[in-house]
Amino acid sequence: MSVLASRRPPAAGVHDEASLSRFVTGLEVVLRELSVKMALVWWERYTGGPGEGLDELERARSEILLDPSYDDLVRNWSGGRLDPLLARRLAILGDLISEARVSAVPEIYTLQNDILRRVIVFRPVVRGGEIANSERVRILRHEPDRAWRREAWMSIAPLSMELAKPTVELIRRRNHLAREAGAAGFVELTLGLASLTPAEVMETVERLEAASAPLWASFLERSAAAEGLDAVEPWDVTYLVEKDAAIPTGVFPSERIEPSLEAFVRAFGRDPVAIGIKIVRQDIPFGGLCVPIDPPTDVRILANPRDGHGSFSTLFHEYGHGLHAVFAGANSRLLQEEPGVLAEGLAEVWGWFTFYPGWLRGLGLDEELAATVVRAQGLRLAARHRTLSADVAWELSAYQDPYQDLTALAAATESRFTLAAARPVHRWAGGPFPSGYPMYKQNYILADLIAAATHRTLAEDHGPDVLGNAQVWEAVSAAYWRPGASIPWRERLRRFTGRDLDAAAIDYGAPLGPR
Ligand SMILES: [Zn+2]
Repeated sequence: MSVLASRRPPAAGVHDEASLSRFVTGLEVVLRELSVKMALVWWERYTGGPGEGLDELERARSEILLDPSYDDLVRNWSGGRLDPLLARRLAILGDLISEARVSAVPEIYTLQNDILRRVIVFRPVVRGGEIANSERVRILRHEPDRAWRREAWMSIAPLSMELAKPTVELIRRRNHLAREAGAAGFVELTLGLASLTPAEVMETVERLEAASAPLWASFLERSAAAEGLDAVEPWDVTYLVEKDAAIPTGVFPSERIEPSLEAFVRAFGRDPVAIGIKIVRQDIPFGGLCVPIDPPTDVRILANPRDGHGSFSTLFHEYGHGLHAVFAGANSRLLQEEPGVLAEGLAEVWGWFTFYPGWLRGLGLDEELAATVVRAQGLRLAARHRTLSADVAWELSAYQDPYQDLTALAAATESRFTLAAARPVHRWAGGPFPSGYPMYKQNYILADLIAAATHRTLAEDHGPDVLGNAQVWEAVSAAYWRPGASIPWRERLRRFTGRDLDAAAIDYGAPLGPR
């Protein structure tokens, strides 16, 4: 047994509420230490270090969360009359145990981490040379040479082919273990732990598909005509969205991102130095990644920014994760465990600030340019939702039957949602999500519903005085960040916005409303 796991408190000592409370608190001390160590290893891996010792930490996590006496304890004490906060911490422990029945099993984490390691070190080859992930993104967004874009789009195929077999194996094992844990499958288990169902996710995706259809069709028609294209190819979509949005990248130089974030926080009367979120630049296979090492004092962001508005949105998004981690960080450890859907939602609440005309003018844009960015938000959302929806529909179907032709399935779902030509190129396993972050991408779509509803509420409550308003900061902090998971996420959303999660929150014509 690992040293860390041997320090976990015994369930046998629990006989009343006071001893249960001591047990939960003692376990939280061990869970926190584990989480800090794991975060440091991942930080090292993403920043080019060896990141040794992960398997040992995974084993410790496994020994702790899969201790059968813990499962019994949670069952025995749940539903009883307990202090509400203690009951909540116990319920969250129960969720962690359920999730661990898949993720903390050695045959899962060894395979998953091995795949993810290969994704992290992979560099695509374009025009005969290795390029950075951020360069691949730049080509897809901004490169007028269509053949070059096509090559960049296809450049993850070698990685995808290499990882296809182990990824299918991972899907099979996850389903098997989820069924052993009593769920219908891995998808049902994972979504259930976030108070979601596959049916709700698919229904939301389809409602957004219908809501964005007119805007998307007219965009494709106008872009194809402007570029003289007979057919839109998958490697055209991102490029055409950027071109149609017509936001000059030069007015968003990447070196201004950190200063603009600091100024944004200061405007609310807060001190970014005291908040202490550290931003480190590194080429990673994501736009950005927030790594809450030891909240509230040590929260870090890895980012890969380029010039352009998109990188500002991404960094604001990551900073939103950071603020959530810092201000929820005063809670006991289990209450800092938040489902991905809420975490992404709160991050995106911050990301959406980069579409406020007032913020854009503060960056030095004139009225016309600011209006251009504001107008572009609907199309960008439609593009993002449609691309993500293809991945989500693919993943739901892949877990239904991992032995179908997953490349053909990916081509069909991508074509269905983006309306570009179907090109069955092997790409589906060539990224960090299917292996390392399974059933996660729907969170980015749902995040926009949370962001839209939250910004509507802010507009209703504060009119044009949202930016730099100390009351706004306090309201968001009190409703969303500070309670941590003491209040379930859907309840926090309902209390703040007056509504449950709803696809109707998104208006692609004017996502932030008339401003
Ligand atoms: Zn995020």
